[in-house]
Amino acid sequence: MHTKSLTQLVEGLRSGEFSAVELAQWYLDRIERHANLNAFITVDRELTLAQARAADQRASQDAPPLNGIPVAHKDIFCAEGMLTTCGSRILGNFTAPYDATVIERFKAVGTVILGKTNMDEFAMGSSNETSYYGPVRNPWNPELVPGGSSGGSAAAVAARLAPAATGTDTGGSIRQPAAFCGVTGLKPSYGRVSRYGMVAFASSLDQGGPITRSVADAALLLDVMAGFDPRDSTSVEQEAPEFTAALGQELSGLRIGLPRQYFGEGLDAAVQETVREALKVYEGLGAKLVDVDLPNSELCVPCYYVLAPSEASSNLSRFDGVRYGHRAEHYDDLMDMYMRTRSEGFGAEVKRRIMIGTYALSAGYYDAYYVKAQKLRRLIADDFDRAFEQCDVLMGPTTPSTAFALGAKSDDPVAMYLNDIYTISVNLAGLPALSLPAGFDARGMPVGLQVIGRYFDESRLLNVGYRYQQETDWHDRMPAGIE
Ligand code: GLN
Repeated sequence: MHTKSLTQLVEGLRSGEFSAVELAQWYLDRIERHANLNAFITVDRELTLAQARAADQRASQDAPPLNGIPVAHKDIFCAEGMLTTCGSRILGNFTAPYDATVIERFKAVGTVILGKTNMDEFAMGSSNETSYYGPVRNPWNPELVPGGSSGGSAAAVAARLAPAATGTDTGGSIRQPAAFCGVTGLKPSYGRVSRYGMVAFASSLDQGGPITRSVADAALLLDVMAGFDPRDSTSVEQEAPEFTAALGQELSGLRIGLPRQYFGEGLDAAVQETVREALKVYEGLGAKLVDVDLPNSELCVPCYYVLAPSEASSNLSRFDGVRYGHRAEHYDDLMDMYMRTRSEGFGAEVKRRIMIGTYALSAGYYDAYYVKAQKLRRLIADDFDRAFEQCDVLMGPTTPSTAFALGAKSDDPVAMYLNDIYTISVNLAGLPALSLPAGFDARGMPVGLQVIGRYFDESRLLNVGYRYQQETDWHDRMPAGIE
């Protein structure tokens, strides 16, 4: 059952080969069997089965196609009546009183919530090691990290503990774990998917998207997730096209831009080679390769690490022991309560970001850091505009290396931050981007190919990914040792 694609599962449910309850049970059992991966923070068997029973009751020829399909959600999305921790101790006892728009949309088409996946605390991280609920392990090799921050979702899909999952991407958190775990991840354009009910990290960068086995599955999920939401003021008031309908078009004449800066120093040789092989597949499909420049690329990491912490320091001020979640047990007065609650509730990485952000926003440094970074952000976005005058999509590696060992970078924040060197600029510019499984390194760890699209051009982007997956079978490989 777990080897079936979403489309096959939809057919199986339709034809009555299995029921939604049987399907949910199958995956719940797999989650339990592979609990060592620590991919989930919350699994609520009763709730999942109740939703599956309801789906079976609704099942009929005119039920929506995804009716009864189980989907795992990153624990950053509020789901009514379910624990929503965001990977943090401070929300360790927080039961969401309402559904995020994304969750609401999945419910409206009849999907079943399989559970809430593990993640870096408040989505801050690239390895899933900052989660209060312990690290997630990479299904291809449990000694290695799955990437982050949506590591639980990527590991769950890779190990076939869920047919599909949601994630969020502020600086690479859908694409980087997708690359490390050998699955497909899509970060939509900023404004495409509602952020309502998605716990905020850096509001001008955060975007939810699908993590799936294939691009075809990602398109099915994006059809559910995308669309205008009046409750999110940054949601773009534009009707989403039908993404699944865009798949299968010819690529002849497609111009693929190769940013020089994405193939330079610091890129692992095996990753580079794998990406070059993938480009040959595209050439075989009639695409043309053009070299392009993104001259401000080296500024994207410093720019992001001023802006994201600044926004985070403001967003996270709401966790004060009064409104949500954890409150320190013993304290002297109100100020002491705030300090103890936040000291106990937040982990080291979150505290580091709050301090950096508070510093960058302080009166004396605001112009030197925050305003300067905003100006850089504009230059970085302009680079993409110029590159897209010469090409239709950009391609390169998703990450400079494949998955690394647990603990290898946890004491070196800068080494950790450099994981996102190829993904962060896409968030700064608000663009959509995919990570596709493109092969393996000598250790058998998956390599991701990144495809970046023009703003709101997901249809083309998905088609470009889809055609590659028709020619290759990297996305169908399953980790050895995962039964
Ligand atoms: N790794 C980056 C960070 O730590 C990006 C995280 C994300 O995309 N949520 O901020």
